[in-house]
Amino acid sequence: MADIYLDNNATTRVDEAVVAAMLPFFTEQYGNPSSMHGFGDKVGRALRQARVQVQTLLGAAHDSEIVFTSCGTESNSTAILSALQAYPERREIITTTVEHPAVLTLCQHLEQSEGYTVHYLKVDKQGRLDLDAYRAALSPRVAVVSVMWANNETGTLFPVREMAELARSAGVLFHTDAVQAAGKIPLDLKSTAIDMLSLSGHKLHAAKGVGVLYLRRGVRYRPLLRGGHQERGRRAGTENTAGIVGLGVAAELVQQHMEYANTVVCRLRDRLEQGIIAQVPNCFVTGDPHNRLPNTANIAFEYIEGEAILLLLNKAGIAASSGSACTSGSLEPSHVMRAMDIPYTAAHGTVRFSFSRYNTADEVARVVEAVPPIVAQLRKLSPYWDGNSNGPVRDPQQAFAPSYA
Ligand SMILES: *Cc1c(COP(=O)(O)O)cnc(C)c1O
Repeated sequence: MADIYLDNNATTRVDEAVVAAMLPFFTEQYGNPSSMHGFGDKVGRALRQARVQVQTLLGAAHDSEIVFTSCGTESNSTAILSALQAYPERREIITTTVEHPAVLTLCQHLEQSEGYTVHYLKVDKQGRLDLDAYRAALSPRVAVVSVMWANNETGTLFPVREMAELARSAGVLFHTDAVQAAGKIPLDLKSTAIDMLSLSGHKLHAAKGVGVLYLRRGVRYRPLLRGGHQERGRRAGTENTAGIVGLGVAAELVQQHMEYANTVVCRLRDRLEQGIIAQVPNCFVTGDPHNRLPNTANIAFEYIEGEAILLLLNKAGIAASSGSACTSGSLEPSHVMRAMDIPYTAAHGTVRFSFSRYNTADEVARVVEAVPPIVAQLRKLSPYWDGNSNGPVRDPQQAFAPSYA
């Protein structure tokens, strides 16, 4: 039986059509788009087409607002550092406690080493932001707001349209990390007040090593990479032509599949959640069930370790993710689970299943069959689970507290 891939928030399979579109740019069409000859011209035309394809996916007003980068991380760094350089007198940043490390680590660095003040907006138990705290933090001292559109661990969506409007009213730049949202939900940037947005190719069936920074026309900007005139001087360095052409095709394809992703794929995700919850005691879905991506299920299994579940799932040919930082040997649950104040008896046992258009009903059936015995097996070994009563030991708080602190 073929292995089952349910880790699409980590990375996705490159679509066959994307591969086919990329191949000529490694062989016949190897010209440098900046060159003044036929080889370069042809490639330049292909890049312009890709820019329009991405513009269409984002619903941006102008194709010149699309800047190609090397990845989502580069786009995030560029957006935030650009705002800080463009407004040097502003020494504050607003972000959230549940951002991807691509934003969080940078903000922590800016705070600790560069003396910036960072406001980390908190979330509630369902991962929802407190907009009052956001309003209170907005001020002319803030250079940039950076808030993700969709959370990579839980799929929870943030009200970035509303937040961008508030930022604009306060005269503050608004950036969103839309790496998980792009291609899964409609974005339509021209109808928003979002100034900058990040996207990554490999999260939407394009290749690794290509990303996009959307820059609204008129936004003050300072490049991260200076050098040649590529990308109108906004991102120097010879273009990743094959990657960009592939991203253009992938952008078109995700748009064509968006309805499918929000109906068929979403129902597969729901069926997986319901199938597991119906059979496994003491587990629950994390995040905001009413406002989330159609492809993401994050399930917390109480009293066991997510990593142990993953290991056994992997043995059964099922690839998922623990949604935890799982930095080697770290016993800390993920920062997202901690931010949502998920009880420690459950935060350690989270598993993220993330779908793509390639997943099938058969696969869901296999996973729903595989998970309950794995959980039961691990709980048998858990000191916090009573095999006789098939429930937690009387005082799990007591059992966990010493090692958790
Ligand atoms: C994957 C991911 C990134 C990083 O993108 P790369 O292209 O791998 O650098 C950033 N933000 C979110 C929300 C992601 O899921």
